[in-house]
Amino acid sequence: MANVGRMRNTSQRPDEHRITRRDFVRSAALTAGAVGLAGTMGHAQEADPVAEQGPIRSRFLWTWDHCTTWALNRAGGHDMGASNDYGRTTESFIADYSSALRWCGKHGIEGIVVWGLLRDRHGGLESVKRLCEVAKESGTKLLAGVGLNAYGGVYYEGNSPWSLEQHLKANPELYGIDAKGERMIFDFGFAGQKLCHHACPSRPENQEYAAESLRWLMETTDIDGVQMEAGDTGVCQCPTCKARRRHPVSGFSWEDMALIYAKATEAIRSVRPEATVIVETYSHPQPHENPEEAPGFGGGAPEWAGECLAQFPEGVFVQWVCDQYIAPTRAREWTDAGRPPAGPRRHIMRAHMGTYWHRYRDELAIDWIAEMAGRSATHGFDALSIFGESSPFHAGSELNYLALADYGSDSNPACELSSFLDRVAAPLLGGPERARRFLEIARLIDHREQIPEALADGRRIAADLSGRPAQRWTWLCNYLASFIYPEPPLGDD
Ligand SMILES: [Zn+2]
Repeated sequence: MANVGRMRNTSQRPDEHRITRRDFVRSAALTAGAVGLAGTMGHAQEADPVAEQGPIRSRFLWTWDHCTTWALNRAGGHDMGASNDYGRTTESFIADYSSALRWCGKHGIEGIVVWGLLRDRHGGLESVKRLCEVAKESGTKLLAGVGLNAYGGVYYEGNSPWSLEQHLKANPELYGIDAKGERMIFDFGFAGQKLCHHACPSRPENQEYAAESLRWLMETTDIDGVQMEAGDTGVCQCPTCKARRRHPVSGFSWEDMALIYAKATEAIRSVRPEATVIVETYSHPQPHENPEEAPGFGGGAPEWAGECLAQFPEGVFVQWVCDQYIAPTRAREWTDAGRPPAGPRRHIMRAHMGTYWHRYRDELAIDWIAEMAGRSATHGFDALSIFGESSPFHAGSELNYLALADYGSDSNPACELSSFLDRVAAPLLGGPERARRFLEIARLIDHREQIPEALADGRRIAADLSGRPAQRWTWLCNYLASFIYPEPPLGDD
């Protein structure tokens, strides 16, 4: 889940990837001729030229507990990281996620994934039971982020038999082994103070432990499901693992995913057959250019991805990541071959918008999310996920979440930015022209010399409005002003 290394690219072409309904149908029809990952995996999807429903059917917010700060004016939140200590109170934890679950219920977001869900530090099992009740009331799914061979296991931190760290400390022979023959304990450094203890994926004891942990989670709580990962912070180099794998690895291994996802899913479904299960790939479906090399986090799919995917359980969501393939980064080309295989699984595309993983927390990304949604829809995806850690008090995050809810829906099947601006953003920002101006000004983070003049304009608009629309403009002005502080000139004051 770590996307280490921030990338910058100042290019912005917000209209480049607008698609029409006709484009969408035509592109879907092209699936039959697609090669690459989908082409090697069998049956192509057939377009339904009659259906006029939106192509995106499921939406998720993805969070770490330590960075989630929906309840405002409370101390102790982090603003980035993949393995931090929890610094807020139990009461804040419940308030943060209750607020997020209710907002999602009102806006058609299907579920929230919580990494670090079970921790002694914020109330352990009792807090999770409370949040399961809030999830039921709000109509949103609460999903546990679970690292199977890393990232803490089912019980992320605390005195529990279902904490992977506790399991490995009690059974040190079950640790993963690095290339130097040492136990694998990953240090995130800047991205988190908590060490990440790795289990050897080949050991049957660890596989059974993962399955038992998941059965316990499903039996003990009313949680709606799990987003699971096999680990992306190094792979075990013990003799058994090395002999088992036939393909190269990077920070993660497709074969390690294929080894555990089916067993883990079976454990979940043995208790709750209808549970939502999401399995992570850390990858984009675009075929990787070098057949000898295993791509890293956010890179393309290697040649052996198809055979590994075929071993993933049926009926799950397979989750992918697209930051390198869309604006604002566009470091790699996303061609028609970059689509997941059709078949008995659904596919989620995820991105790190509005976070310090990618650029800036709360940054407005409605145009980039339009591209993400549109290109995902034309490449065989029917689900999307973005980060959801920040409160919608921050207008950048609020509009990003609303964009997630809108693109690909029945109201905006072609994922058009202009449609979103006219129907959704305009009433929130003082009209269609001002909605466009809001986006234009928000993009000046990359053109800071223009910020002072834009602030003068933004303040005039805020003064002309009232209530939340005025507040959104005030938020944007203050946010942008922080990018030029304390450099003179400060604008019209
Ligand atoms: Zn091993």
